[in-house]
Amino acid sequence: MAILVTGGAGYIGSHTVVELQNAGYEVVVLDNLSNASEKSLQRVEQITGKPVTFYKADILDKAALEDIFAKENIDSVIHFAGLKAVGESVQKPWEYYNNNITGTLTLLQVMREHGVKNIIFSSSATVYGTPAQVPVTEETPKGECTNPYGWTKSMLEQILQDIQKADSEWNVILLRYFNPIGAHKSGLIGENPSGIPNNLMPYITQVAVGKREELGVFGDDYPTPDGTCIRDYVHVVDLAIGHVKALKKIEDKAGLCIYNLGTGKGSSVLDIVHSFKEATGVPIPYSIKERRAGDIPENYANAEKAYRELGWKAQYGIKEMCEDSWRWQSKNPDGYGE
Ligand code: NAD
Ligand code: UDP
Repeated sequence: MAILVTGGAGYIGSHTVVELQNAGYEVVVLDNLSNASEKSLQRVEQITGKPVTFYKADILDKAALEDIFAKENIDSVIHFAGLKAVGESVQKPWEYYNNNITGTLTLLQVMREHGVKNIIFSSSATVYGTPAQVPVTEETPKGECTNPYGWTKSMLEQILQDIQKADSEWNVILLRYFNPIGAHKSGLIGENPSGIPNNLMPYITQVAVGKREELGVFGDDYPTPDGTCIRDYVHVVDLAIGHVKALKKIEDKAGLCIYNLGTGKGSSVLDIVHSFKEATGVPIPYSIKERRAGDIPENYANAEKAYRELGWKAQYGIKEMCEDSWRWQSKNPDGYGE
């Protein structure tokens, strides 16, 4: 039996394929390469010494999905495929709703037709909107999203819950990621944003490698100790391991489960800037800019439920996240070079 990993050539997907193969799973990857390079999978093979079965295919393409499900003996799906740029989603809402929602509905339809009813879905802390209090538990009510990307996550969570409610043969695990950063220790795979990075860590590493002059820190007048926003940064390898643990839960007939995947610790933007210098020796020049629209002052997880029910706990701290992000960026200044 194989695990189908949609979006498996991407940042979190490629790290998860490594951990799945290390845990002995047979893995089939599907990706349309709209935001990834096939080289990531060659690097995965280099790390694990095992071949990856890859289909260049789109989750909107029902015939292509049917072909994969007919050929491969798929037992469960880990569903990463989706568009994820917050700002772009505001400019292109139709593209985001179509790709993420229609794509997922098409995938679910083909899964159902083939009797595959196990899915782990990449959700996000963004579904909490502006939480009334931190840390957020899974019982914290979902909130108003500030952009179409966030709404696709929130809506897909609802769709998956409703499908599981109507047919208890489905096992649905919603993983709400906080802020994944870091890279595999080998420095062979990592985050590879196209164009100007939207997220903090890839921007920092591009400043460090000399591709950008300085970091703009978006606002220093938030109600936090140093005035900059607080997030829960979690190492991508920890996140990947969380998926392997979730798969074990599926094997025990999970039904519907929701887990926060974070460290439980908040760090400010300036904490990250200073930790990066400490961990790597590379200073990051920065200047304070206007607040970025839609940012919330503070968000970090209570991740106790994942520990209780999955036995998952983040192992890596900010120091390793900075070291590993830097190893990846410094060894691959142009990412996968495409
Ligand atoms: P990524 O862009 O690196 O990976 C997503 C992959 O999906 C890419 O390889 C892309 O080519 C592929 N893809 C997109 N649309 C597709 C389609 N229609 N058909 C087939 N493949 C398609 O992003 P990531 O950071 O690895 O994120 C993975 C998942 O986790 C996404 O669903 C994202 O929304 C979610 N997530 C990410 C973060 C984060 O900060 N990185 C946080 C919370 C949730
Ligand atoms: N941030 C910043 N400069 C950047 C990118 C991000 O100051 O160039 C800040 C951003 O305002 C937020 C934090 O870093 O407070 C994390 O941003 P990111 O986009 O990585 O994650 P998210 O906003 O999705 O939590």
